[in-house]
Amino acid sequence: MRSHCDIIEKLASQRALEKSEWMSLLTALTDGEKELLHKKAAEVATANFGRGIFVRALLEISSYCRNNCYYCGIRCSNKDAQRYRLTKEQILECCAEGAKLGFNTFVLQGGEDPKQNDEWVADVVRAIRGEYPDKAITLSVGERSREAYALFKEAGADRFLLRHETRNDGHYRELHPVPMSGENRRKCLFTLKEIGFQTGSGMMIGSPGQTVEHIYEDIRFLEELQPQMIGIGPFLPATGTPFENRPAGSGENTILLVSLLRLRFPQALIPATTALSTLLPNGMERAILAGANVVMPNISPPEERKKYSIYNNKKSTGAESAQQMQLLEERLNAIGYHINYARGDYRQE
Ligand code: SAH
Repeated sequence: MRSHCDIIEKLASQRALEKSEWMSLLTALTDGEKELLHKKAAEVATANFGRGIFVRALLEISSYCRNNCYYCGIRCSNKDAQRYRLTKEQILECCAEGAKLGFNTFVLQGGEDPKQNDEWVADVVRAIRGEYPDKAITLSVGERSREAYALFKEAGADRFLLRHETRNDGHYRELHPVPMSGENRRKCLFTLKEIGFQTGSGMMIGSPGQTVEHIYEDIRFLEELQPQMIGIGPFLPATGTPFENRPAGSGENTILLVSLLRLRFPQALIPATTALSTLLPNGMERAILAGANVVMPNISPPEERKKYSIYNNKKSTGAESAQQMQLLEERLNAIGYHINYARGDYRQE
């Protein structure tokens, strides 16, 4: 039986781990060993990216959704959810503001809004691409057909975020009613990669029903997919959903996963997520010091931000706001980092 430090060394030197080794890292590290792990992961991140943290301007384009995910505050049957959708013009205004603030990536995220259909999304991407030939455009608009993804790519989108949520199909079913399926989501992810998107996946930590075994399966799935981006955040309860009274996921475990994934995927773009910042006041700093290298300040119209309430108390002011880049810079400086405004594409070693 290897010691935990040996397993961390093995992971850091890019060798595949046995299941028992993963399980030890996921369940049995002491606080001191976790600190060592975070330190190593942060070293790998700085060796690859320096001390610059990439920023992405996040636009939440619609709170309408045809899906009914049990955890999500904007699920279609949440009668209390406040709905809005941005128009193309509003989106272009947000992009103009983002460009002025120095952003080089726009992320358009939203519910699967039937009114924002494939042609509409492609048209918006084309308009952004026309105005900003050099900026990166990231979409996060859910499960669509291969044709739709190809159309988005052709229109000028570069990247796509679609978390697999959980690799275990039984657990997937505990989180999502039919007709959704883990199988279709995974198929979408492989299609996105084939089409040439820089593709992001990931999962919530501590979602209802999640076991350590599931997280192990998630890591194996990520090894198979080889995503360019990996988003990891704690589950947070959302009012008006079947999971409204479930406990939030653990911030500690989320940060543990950030470090493990940084060591397993040294070049991946891994954000310090808003969910983690919502759970822990210093969540952003903790994630960066554990290997994260991206933050995604919110640039949605302020009057709509509260309505994109996928979980309760979602942070969208302070350093989570694109209008507060000075504050973000100060917080990063305080831990020895700074903002990197470059596009921040995925780079193979
Ligand atoms: N409709 C898009 C965007 C979903 S929101 C899509 O399907 O990809 C982005 C991510 O937020 C989701 O993939 C999910 O992992 C996360 N999320 C949703 N509800 C959440 C909650 N209650 N707590 C924490 N994260 C949540």
